[in-house]
Amino acid sequence: MEKTNEELAPAERPLNFLEEIIEESMAKGEKRVQTRFPPEPNGYLHIGHAKSICLNFGLAKKYGGKCNLRFDDTNPVKEDVEYVDSIKEDIKWLGFDWAAEYYASDYFEQLYDWAVELIKRGKAYVDDQTQEEIRQRRGTVTEPGEESPWRDRSVEENLDLFARMRAGEFADGEKVLRAKIDMAHPNMLMRDPIMYRILHAHHHRTGDKWCIYPMYDYAHGQCDSIERVTHSMCTLEFDVHRPLYDWFIQELGIFPSHQYEFARLNLTHTMMSKRKLLQLVQNKVVTGWDDPRMPTIVALRRRGYTPESLRMFAEKVGVAKRDNVIDLGLLEFCVREDLNKIAERRMAVLDPIKVVITNYPEDKVEEVECVNNPEDEAAGKRRVPFSREIYIERDDFMEEPPKKYFRLSPGKEVRLRYAYLIRCDEVIKDTDGTVTELRCTYDPESGHGGSSDGRRVKGVIHWVSVPHAVKTEVRLFDRLLLNDSADDVEEGKTFMDYINPDSLVVKTAYAEPSLADASIGDKFQFERIGYFCKDKDSTAERAVFNRTVTLKDSWAKMK
Ligand code: ATP
Ligand code: MG
Repeated sequence: MEKTNEELAPAERPLNFLEEIIEESMAKGEKRVQTRFPPEPNGYLHIGHAKSICLNFGLAKKYGGKCNLRFDDTNPVKEDVEYVDSIKEDIKWLGFDWAAEYYASDYFEQLYDWAVELIKRGKAYVDDQTQEEIRQRRGTVTEPGEESPWRDRSVEENLDLFARMRAGEFADGEKVLRAKIDMAHPNMLMRDPIMYRILHAHHHRTGDKWCIYPMYDYAHGQCDSIERVTHSMCTLEFDVHRPLYDWFIQELGIFPSHQYEFARLNLTHTMMSKRKLLQLVQNKVVTGWDDPRMPTIVALRRRGYTPESLRMFAEKVGVAKRDNVIDLGLLEFCVREDLNKIAERRMAVLDPIKVVITNYPEDKVEEVECVNNPEDEAAGKRRVPFSREIYIERDDFMEEPPKKYFRLSPGKEVRLRYAYLIRCDEVIKDTDGTVTELRCTYDPESGHGGSSDGRRVKGVIHWVSVPHAVKTEVRLFDRLLLNDSADDVEEGKTFMDYINPDSLVVKTAYAEPSLADASIGDKFQFERIGYFCKDKDSTAERAVFNRTVTLKDSWAKMK
């Protein structure tokens, strides 16, 4: 069977369409590749941005070029330095470094000068219509729009009005600057698009210097051009903007940056738009942008994802020309792959039953040697205390087991991981019939995988010594959205109606003592349970662990 893109190693993978474009242009003599990552600082970055970051920085690196970080800060109302700082931190954490850090607002003066130039050349005019009137007169896909009554103002009048717009003589919405292109253009975006609007708003960098702000379409291409970006990558919905991107660059006769579109990343059971994520934060569905259930990079980091796992994910997803939805299972597969290699193993019991080993001496404590990571010999070994009373997982015992149940049941034997075989002799219950204690005997000859008479036992379960156990809080997460996609909602409902009420379960776990010394951010595999990462909410008295992912691989099975 042919391998899918996701199964191929990076080196075997065929070139994606952007790499093909770059290699073709290099074959024609183009020497330089320059990209940029252009976030708007109006929220925290999410896994979709991570894909764009890996793509932009990855292509620059692959072709010996450079990638800038440019904050697209043309909309002062929603933007904030808090977001600027978090974006920089997230990119660095992902393992990338920008050649230079720029802000669209650095170019406001140059953009203004270019607008004046376009006015002088009869290519832009001040319109007194309201935005609503402009919208109504734009026409439809099949009908041309109507020309503004202000379209033929003289250059002098336009220059004067535009200068006065900048000087703050007009109220918000009173006037706009529009490009003079073609009100009958088949592409609606080319029907005299708005270049500037009046907005008396404080900007997080330029303060109150400006009260007119450029629109995305007027700013983006020119910013690319100023920085001499060769390949400006954006998501598919911008393909209709490309003619306008090219028009401004051509009219101004400036460095010809080019725009290329790729499919945005969509993930099942996850919402990706910053607007929706902000709604979750504001409505307190989550505790913040870094709530481990969020698809933001800060949240994934807190949950225990590694930069390597996110880069692997971006590589496996690849770049497509058509929109698609990626299964959340693939992201989980990637983090499991990485954590399996690097995370040390520990034992912890999430839902305990006490086991008393009746033939084990009362005051005896042994130190059992446990392998830290079977995937990494250098991780070494550790000693874990073993005693007469231990906890095992409630579902590792069944009073009336089905046929192929290899864990503990009355009269049956099971191996305790790295320790002895025990047999269950007696089940003790409370008045409700709930099992409260198991009384077992152990085979003293059965340490290190052996047994007194060579008999073999299939089941192996984890355990924690009762007097040595440290109580920790564990947080178990599930998908935030019950439906497949945040856009796939019934009429009259919003994605908020599909929030999973059980996306967080908090439990008290009993862990082996070495976990008490872990630092925040340390990652472990709790044997047979999943990968966990120590959370920043931990205190000296009580460690808190987030479950990054379970051990069960749903993605590989699905294929
Ligand atoms: P959102 O709709 O989530 O707010 P955005 O596109 O408005 O996203 P920007 O800050 O403008 O967010 O995005 C910065 C860069 O990241 C852009 O180049 C954008 O194309 C890219 N990007 C955003 N979301 C995705 C996604 N889901 N998949 C791939 N790239 C994305
Ligand atoms: Mg945006």
